[in-house]
Amino acid sequence: MGKKIMQKPSAIFCFLLLITATFFASAEPFSVGRVKASEGTLVSGFLDVPAGTDAGSKIPITVIHGATHGPVLALLAGIHGYEYPPITALQSMRTEIDPALLRGTVILVHVANLPSFLGRTIYYSPVDGKNLNRMFPGDPEGTLSQRIAHQITTEVIDQADYLIDLHAGDGNEALRPYVYMPVTGDAGFDQKIKGLAVAFGLDQIAIDTGPQHASGPSLFADQTALVRGIPAITTETGKSGSNDPHWSELAKSGVWNVLRHLRMVSGVEVPNLDITWLTDYQVVKSPASGIFQPATKEGSMVTKGALLGVLVDFFGNEITQVRAPFSGVINYVISTPPVNKDEPVAMMSKIQEQ
Ligand SMILES: [Zn+2]
Repeated sequence: MGKKIMQKPSAIFCFLLLITATFFASAEPFSVGRVKASEGTLVSGFLDVPAGTDAGSKIPITVIHGATHGPVLALLAGIHGYEYPPITALQSMRTEIDPALLRGTVILVHVANLPSFLGRTIYYSPVDGKNLNRMFPGDPEGTLSQRIAHQITTEVIDQADYLIDLHAGDGNEALRPYVYMPVTGDAGFDQKIKGLAVAFGLDQIAIDTGPQHASGPSLFADQTALVRGIPAITTETGKSGSNDPHWSELAKSGVWNVLRHLRMVSGVEVPNLDITWLTDYQVVKSPASGIFQPATKEGSMVTKGALLGVLVDFFGNEITQVRAPFSGVINYVISTPPVNKDEPVAMMSKIQEQ
């Protein structure tokens, strides 16, 4: 009898413990580094990048932890610090996404590459001269760009279910907006990636069959997500260092439609009915350092052999004429004079036949 009496409360006690544990487990804050957001709240702060072989840095982030459980969407801006529209777009989204109405969690990385942003550098960090979007998955023992990549990989990408890496034409790139849509060969996975790419809403989508099949480090933020089984796209909205609201609004409308697509917010996904699919994209590189004089514009259709621009030396003498490697569309063309050997002067893609 005494034994029986002891058993009953014990069973109830265990049940209560389980319920309590489940309740607290589901109410756990979502943490990115020291930034912790409880369910239904928004918290901003910094992700620390510790000092190493060079000085440390920090990454301004916001965690919006929705009131109901759902997917984790990571949004990266400012991997290239001179690409402003995505940075402006995420600042605006921070005030617009209501955590009480959000299903799931959004991680906003406001300025991934603060040294480049404050140093006003294109492509490369002013600290170590490295391109952050070639440093993934990063290295905690490496130089600053490698350590930034490591923090973003381990604290942000590893926790994400979906990722959008938001870019624009850099300070020297006149760019027509497009999305890079990686294709991995895994049909089910590729369908999820395509869902993001189409939902982002831009009318040109570059089918990206390239780097995800290479061996070695993932190099790019989107590839870092893909190799972890996380659907990811890279978007390009804006050009030439402009922070015109038109470009940040384009990025924002894309993110909002992805949120609808993932059912993280209410509302019906706006279908993208007018897509030009691009293939075989190629970055045309400069054969020498000098001054590039563009002869084409972003978005132009050109035929194979068309003049893209003229490279001249520092006295104005012609070094070479740069011509289109094939017929297609100009995704971007360099719009400011300086160019280093092996840097891009333009990117072109072929238009896929319907
Ligand atoms: Zn970029």
